[in-house]
Amino acid sequence: MSNYQKGTDCLHAGYVPESGEPRNIPIVQSTTFRYGSSEAMGALFDLEAEGYFYTRLQNPTSDRVAAKICALEGGTAAMLTSSGQAANFFAVFNICSAGDHVVASSAIYGGTFNLFSVTMKRMGIEFTFVSPECTDEELEAAFRPNTKAVFGETIANPALIVLDIERFAKAAHDHGVPLIIDNTFATPVGCRPFQWGADIVTHSTTKYMDGHANCVGGAIVDSGNFDWTRHAEKYPGLCTPDESYHGLVYTERFGLGGAYITKAVVQLMRDFGASPAPMNAYLLNVGLETLHLRMPRHRSNGLKVAQFAKNHPKIAWVNYPDLEGDKYYDLAKKYMPEGTCGVVTFGVKGGRAAAETFMAGLKLASIATHVADAKTCVLHPASSTHRQLSDAELEAAGVSPDLIRLSVGIEDPEDIIADLAQALDQV
Ligand code: PLP
Repeated sequence: MSNYQKGTDCLHAGYVPESGEPRNIPIVQSTTFRYGSSEAMGALFDLEAEGYFYTRLQNPTSDRVAAKICALEGGTAAMLTSSGQAANFFAVFNICSAGDHVVASSAIYGGTFNLFSVTMKRMGIEFTFVSPECTDEELEAAFRPNTKAVFGETIANPALIVLDIERFAKAAHDHGVPLIIDNTFATPVGCRPFQWGADIVTHSTTKYMDGHANCVGGAIVDSGNFDWTRHAEKYPGLCTPDESYHGLVYTERFGLGGAYITKAVVQLMRDFGASPAPMNAYLLNVGLETLHLRMPRHRSNGLKVAQFAKNHPKIAWVNYPDLEGDKYYDLAKKYMPEGTCGVVTFGVKGGRAAAETFMAGLKLASIATHVADAKTCVLHPASSTHRQLSDAELEAAGVSPDLIRLSVGIEDPEDIIADLAQALDQV
């Protein structure tokens, strides 16, 4: 764990150049790495020595950026992936196989919901979705003897439901399984889920971490806190020999701090190859260097926009967890005392047609399938990111058909509000 504050870590963690070395993280744009002997390379393949041999598995640029994210989250090991989707897939698949089961919050990003409920189901992994507001009895009833993990989002995209991480962590631990938290919207400068009992954190770094809509990417961080060996029968992949590495046992060789991420790198990256380009890792790092400056501006702009929307006669409802009176205000204050993020959702009076007129009238805010970057953008999830969901699934995900998701950027707030006002005048 770093001794610096988060802002300093945003700039310096993960890479400290030696005398005469590049000040910036070097872009190691190379697929391969040269070795002096076959024996030296063989030791890498057997995981007996540390080093790089092929960028599909590991690359120095990516590893340095992963180390920064690891420090920001307060974890013991981390890896980058080519996308947030790959991060969530790997995070679960690393500890689940056909015949296993996962409990997941129903209020999650539509792409993750589809990954779990369609694609991973086809791989033989079953998911039970529970409302993040379910009773303790309902949460308890979701677990099965073959449950291997619990999954949720700190701030659900786009429902903006704040998960009670402590409650979900306790339920997971009572059943001897880890809690995986997608911390994309909060970012580690706003919330560190490990402090509240989460065991593994994932990110779509595509969002605030990159922050400039430059590159798609993901990250997985392990807290090192979950003791796989206490539940060895549930996690044979971590606690029994891996024949593809001559019988190596991950928990024995890499300890609790390193077993989970090492296994994900040497098995899942090896076999699926969802590795980020070194150039993308570099760009992500440029974004990370200002994360601690951008997030407060996103939050204060978000709050101003939410207050404007709340008082506007043409807006039916507003969700923003930092807005006093919001259903998730208390949970937001508990988990993110400095504020949540820049995403605000609302419904324009007049339903879907009014929403479309409003969106077409916006000049500064772009209509974009994106969220959480420096420039304000807007989306109607029911007709885009969440269009594969049925009405019932939309409701479970907290996405009403009239919901507009406004990702408030870091422009001057007066200009963002003036744009919204003139677009609302046209409705
Ligand atoms: N998790 C959350 C919370 C997201 O919002 C997204 C994308 O919007 C993802 C995961 C998937 O990330 P990516 O688009 O980088 O694959």
